[in-house]
Amino acid sequence: MPMTTFTPPTRILMGPGPSGAHPRVLAAMTRPLLGHLDPDFLRVMDGCRAMLREVLQTENEVTIATPGTGTSGMEAAVMNLVEPGDRVVVGICGYFGERIAQMAERAGGEVTRVQSPWGQPVDAAVVEAAVRAAGGVKLLAIVHAETSTGAETPVEPFARIAREHGALLLVDCVTSLGGMPVRVDAWGADAVYSGTQKCLSAPPGVAPLTLSPRAWDAVRRRETPCNTWYLDLQLLEAYWDERRVYHHTAPISMVYALHEALSLVLEEGLETRWARHERNGRALQAGLEAMGLTLHAQAGYRLPVLTTVRIPEGVEDTAVRGALLHRHGIEIGGGLGELKGRVWRIGLMGESSTPGNVLLLLNALGKLLREQGFKADIRAGLDAATERLGGG
Ligand SMILES: *Cc1c(COP(=O)(O)O)cnc(C)c1O
Repeated sequence: MPMTTFTPPTRILMGPGPSGAHPRVLAAMTRPLLGHLDPDFLRVMDGCRAMLREVLQTENEVTIATPGTGTSGMEAAVMNLVEPGDRVVVGICGYFGERIAQMAERAGGEVTRVQSPWGQPVDAAVVEAAVRAAGGVKLLAIVHAETSTGAETPVEPFARIAREHGALLLVDCVTSLGGMPVRVDAWGADAVYSGTQKCLSAPPGVAPLTLSPRAWDAVRRRETPCNTWYLDLQLLEAYWDERRVYHHTAPISMVYALHEALSLVLEEGLETRWARHERNGRALQAGLEAMGLTLHAQAGYRLPVLTTVRIPEGVEDTAVRGALLHRHGIEIGGGLGELKGRVWRIGLMGESSTPGNVLLLLNALGKLLREQGFKADIRAGLDAATERLGGG
């Protein structure tokens, strides 16, 4: 007999996304549908816009959520800002930076990739040299929090480079928004997008996106229509602003979810929420090191929301992740791209970022490592984490 209903098992989501959704967000999604032009639904959209501006720390008029996961925000930003022949420089230090470069090529851009080793931030000096060498660069792109490597690239140096060379700055904040400081206006970033399933703790489904007045000008002054109809920002903005021109049927329940998730972020307070992610992330990292493991990302640039830890010699990647999932109900991520089989990726995002999850993971992972012959010092790991958590 075919399965007629599906009840998911209980899981603790500590991978690179999705994170655990807040119960209030899930409840919001069960509310009755409204029409996508119902005045009451439009009020929810306006509420999202206002709260997105607060969470993104921006006054940008053009602040919306594109239909689709984080990648839709990336594709909307790149496809609308890059015209055939435009020069684009992408600072790449992981999988997602490379994805931006590929999209820019599909948009017809002349793309220069500036590569840094996976686990380090993008090198601003090398990027500046590339921007100067290319000349007339229209768009400079970086990923703030590289989820494939666990490394942060501080944004300010790139904002300065973009400003001095007359380029627009695009920043991927899919993993950082809601878990780490994202200050769009203070940075001077021109195009920033995110997703709902990482530190905003809603299901995957829409992508916050904001454009500075400069970036919006560039979109409106395009000589050629952008190569995507569904993610054409001029059409999307005409639905999100007071014109309310039909473009697509908004993913109603996802907009409810975004609205509730943003309310939760603002109720907690941005600073408090960033501090929570910082404390739990550092506790996990201290615990993993005290257990005898090696962190992959460069010290000083480690993300609090996503930790990469090297898989010890002789330990089987998939066996450990499988046992974590099936025996402990915990999901963590494997390595992406060149880090496949070499690291695990442990997320502490949004609702999943709790002291309890830190200790649970250390304990479970420590036991599985010992079964595989790696002498993890579980006691030391738990002690180091507990100390960082302020539990003495
Ligand atoms: C997850 C992620 C994306 C893609 O988001 P999806 O929701 O998977 O489409 C893009 N960039 C970064 C840095 C991410 O972590």
